[in-house]
Amino acid sequence: MSLSRHINAEEVIEKCKDHPHRKHTGQEGRQTLHQSWSRDEDAARAPKYTMPEFGIPSKAAYQLLHDESALDGNPLLNLASFVHTWMPEEANKLIMENINKNQVDLDEYPAATIIHNRCISMIADLWKAPKEGKVIGTSTAGSSEAIMLGGLAFKKRWQEARKAAGKDYYHPNIVFGSNAQVALEKFARYWDVEARLVPVNASTNYVMNPHDAIPFIDENTIGVIVILGSTYTGHFEDVQLMSDLLDDLQTRTGLDIPIHVDGASGAFIAPFAYPSLKWGFDVPRVHSINTSGHKFGLVYAGLGWVLWRDESLLHKDLIFELHYLGSVEYSFTLNFSKPAAPIIAQMYNFLNLGFDGYRRIAIKDLRNSRMLSRALEATYFTVLSNVHKPSAKGAAELESANDTDDPELYEQGLPVVSFRLSDKFMAEYPHVQQAWIQSMLRTKGWIVPNYNAPEGEAETQILRVVVRETLSEDLIERLIVDILEITEALMGTSAYSRTSFVDPASPVHAEGAAVAVALPPSFAFPPVPHHSSYSRPESPLSSPAPVAVYHPPAAAVSFPSSLPVAATLGIHQRSFPARLVHALLLPFTFIFHLFTAFLFLTSFRSPASSRNPPAFLLAHSSSSAMLIKGVNVHQPDKEHGRPDKDNFGDATGEAAQGQSGFARQC
Ligand SMILES: *Cc1c(COP(=O)(O)O)cnc(C)c1O
Repeated sequence: MSLSRHINAEEVIEKCKDHPHRKHTGQEGRQTLHQSWSRDEDAARAPKYTMPEFGIPSKAAYQLLHDESALDGNPLLNLASFVHTWMPEEANKLIMENINKNQVDLDEYPAATIIHNRCISMIADLWKAPKEGKVIGTSTAGSSEAIMLGGLAFKKRWQEARKAAGKDYYHPNIVFGSNAQVALEKFARYWDVEARLVPVNASTNYVMNPHDAIPFIDENTIGVIVILGSTYTGHFEDVQLMSDLLDDLQTRTGLDIPIHVDGASGAFIAPFAYPSLKWGFDVPRVHSINTSGHKFGLVYAGLGWVLWRDESLLHKDLIFELHYLGSVEYSFTLNFSKPAAPIIAQMYNFLNLGFDGYRRIAIKDLRNSRMLSRALEATYFTVLSNVHKPSAKGAAELESANDTDDPELYEQGLPVVSFRLSDKFMAEYPHVQQAWIQSMLRTKGWIVPNYNAPEGEAETQILRVVVRETLSEDLIERLIVDILEITEALMGTSAYSRTSFVDPASPVHAEGAAVAVALPPSFAFPPVPHHSSYSRPESPLSSPAPVAVYHPPAAAVSFPSSLPVAATLGIHQRSFPARLVHALLLPFTFIFHLFTAFLFLTSFRSPASSRNPPAFLLAHSSSSAMLIKGVNVHQPDKEHGRPDKDNFGDATGEAAQGQSGFARQC
């Protein structure tokens, strides 16, 4: 090995520059010069690690940062993230209109406060909050802050109970699966709570098995966090089973252990895709739930929500009073200031999409996940996520079902595809490293992470694609082509016969050896129903490719690496009738939106809805009316959805008695 020494890149760059001491940076010169030249000069004057003494022109500053951020990945192709990256034009406009508002300025921005409270009510209803209860909740910066608050409420409640019983209250612990997102461990470490990680493995689907959690629980356990939608594989943990086992534990030992559901992703998928699943406030042991508005809530980064089933679950010590204009607001957040725009954007989605819109998007995401999963499974990969596998109910019904799109026919989970190279592949090509697929996809623009499975199964590497709303069917087709081309390139295989990779169980094989031998590897696509109810523009990729189109056999679709990409794109040419239906659906969609808008407007006059919202929700009609009538005056006593101070958990501590309100300082 050669002896090497550290190279200072900045020094090398500096030495390579032409005449660094003779730069033309005169202010007068710049104004008359060609813009791109002046941009370079301005940028060159700006120091990198200290604030410039004098500023550069705004255009140059913009261009400098604009160009530099071009080095970032393309958010549309960032399949690593659960975080939403696209909103319609009207939402973007609303966000820009409200971007300068601070949510904490309650009296300055009363409308933002009311919209916030209505969001809480709508989410409470979605999560099946008990109608008689006093649900309480707040927006947060994301699920992380929301989880901190949920955990703190647990900790305080446990401490007070222990104090009251005259027991030690210094060694709290919290129980969750080792598949937890980092926010859960952060909570434990930042707030001095011992994290008890329940090991997971392939046999538990890489998520916590509630039976395995029970032995970790003792009198110092402040609660169990059940994850609805593991970030690793998208699997749901079983909230109902956890609750049943904790009921049983309580009967046996008297320990009353509450559940917090981390629904960062799942709490905006389950209500729409799996209406029969019990996971929310309809499970009485669930005290609190968090979600990320910026994941499947379909808002840009910067928004989370946390709700408690009743005000009494929040200890008085945790609540700060904000006094202003003779009225009192209560606050339980870590951050004081936060932008109002994401909250308004969330309400935009609630109004624009409604329950049905969210459901359609969830169904579409899950359909696309199935397509990707099947393509991978039929070739070189093993798929660890489960949303493409028929459920117990689905196995019996899929054959005869009219709507094969119904997510309840399949195993429940997030629209996530986790996969790895199959054992067979790895045995045949031991030199191929799975991580290379990540790097090579990146060169094509796709961001698909390769990482280790959670503790307990950490030697397994997983590639993961989050199938978000923006990952359209067309893009998935491109992704499949790219993954297969890359994998085959890695195999380095011109001579190798790939027929052996055709899954003998796959319909392709059943079609007859001729197809399988001629164009392996192959996989079968199920007929994919074409849905045009989404108002997202179709990707240009869906229009017929201008070059000769490869016509695959009806059932079998092949991706030999020698075929040009344009040809493989032909896999989903739409027939003329399909396009006609599509064209007809456009005016229909327009009328549908008009109708929705009409329904929305009339709903302000008659708040009663067919879904029977709970009483606290109905009460919002008056605040909505305030907005509509343009009576833009903050009327705290008239706004509903406000917490009732007397309902907060009892403060016995000195500190709580001493809390003397809270002066606002913005
Ligand atoms: C994303 C995620 C979090 C953290 O959420 P942020 O909104 O990014 O703070 C926590 N838990 C799970 C399960 C997640 O998917």
